[in-house]
Amino acid sequence: MRIVIFGPPGSGKGTYASRLMEKLGVPHISTGDLVREEIRNQTPLGKMIEKYSSSGGLVPDETITEILKERMRSGASKGFVLEGYPRTVNQAKELAKMTKIDAVINLIVPDSVIIRRLSARLQCKSCGAIYNEITLKPRVAGKCDKCGGELFRRADDQPEVIQERLKVYREASAPVVDFYRSEGLLKDIGNEDPNADPNEIVSQILKMIKPRP
Ligand code: AMP
Repeated sequence: MRIVIFGPPGSGKGTYASRLMEKLGVPHISTGDLVREEIRNQTPLGKMIEKYSSSGGLVPDETITEILKERMRSGASKGFVLEGYPRTVNQAKELAKMTKIDAVINLIVPDSVIIRRLSARLQCKSCGAIYNEITLKPRVAGKCDKCGGELFRRADDQPEVIQERLKVYREASAPVVDFYRSEGLLKDIGNEDPNADPNEIVSQILKMIKPRP
């Protein structure tokens, strides 16, 4: 199964994608995680793209497409749950050249919920699992339930960077919705409840998707 999880920052893409990975038995590919890994390792590429990520802007299409292609080459033949890409119509066209997509899940979440969620988001340094200080607390404060790794707050989850990321989403990424709607691939999921159980949303997604012939 080849699934794209699409939505604004803080709409729960990573949380749902990691749970879908377990249910579907395919890798979870997050271009945001790939970007953070390059930056953390301070590779030449990481040093070049850090300025975009830390200001809430987008990494140029060509660069992020190369990062994704490289990841696809290292194992995605049985399918994937892709999240964070595409973020522009140009990237959506590049993805269509790379692979067939079975469905695009479009998460619709009000800005108020996004801001609340991102301001309280924590992530595991080791395995990337996502928590929330209000709605999805780890069992032990500061430690990942799954691997015991240290939890951290993302540098781009600061209020002014969140506003910039939302602006970028509206301008560059929202047109991707029209692109996939016209392709007949889009499945909308509304989530207005900040305390909604992620497993509920994942069940809804599983009911909506099936492989395309
Ligand atoms: P995310 O974790 O998906 O919010 O991504 C974190 C940051 O990585 C974004 O704010 C961008 O700077 C960069 N990034 C991730 N995916 C993409 C993409 N598809 N296009 C451009 N920039 C991206």
